Amino acid sequence: MKKINEFRMTVDAKSVNESFCRAVCAAFSAQADPGVEAVGDVKTAVSEAVTNCIVHAYAEKGGKIYLSAALYENGIIKITVRDRGCGIPDVRRAMEPLYTTKGDDRSGLGFSVMQTFSDKLTVRSKPGRGTTVVIEKMIRGAADV
Ligand code: ATP
Ligand code: MG
Repeated sequence: MKKINEFRMTVDAKSVNESFCRAVCAAFSAQADPGVEAVGDVKTAVSEAVTNCIVHAYAEKGGKIYLSAALYENGIIKITVRDRGCGIPDVRRAMEPLYTTKGDDRSGLGFSVMQTFSDKLTVRSKPGRGTTVVIEKMIRGAADV
């Protein structure tokens, strides 16, 4: 499928940038003239992925988050959230609902939320190297851009 637009950016892994990343993805989606619901879903999924980089990958000590997105002719947006943090030893297990390594302040639902609010979620990770989360979502109207 033909790519019609893309962006990439790097931000510090600070909680203040969670809303920034969410807003950037919403603004980028807007060119496809999506419904309010689709934009809301994209924002929710991006927030969860970015939060995970901040609190898990870099354990709130800071680092870089690599955010990119591509919009395709068929109305699909692919958003990639990548970190170079600690990585996830067992991705399948980490994606199970309620699985968390921070039981005191987390509920282990982030990946479930990302899955619910996207059409396809891909997670690749290498311990010690980092994690890449790809969120795919059909946002209507992109073919009209
Ligand atoms: P919640 O999202 O509900 O606040 P959570 O972040 O623990 O809780 P998930 O987002 O589903 O739940 O993530 C599950 C687990 O996967 C995390 O507890 C963490 O161990 C691991 N994890 C998720 N994202 C990353 C990441 N980018 N780098 C390292 N580990 C991660
Ligand atoms: Mg989470």
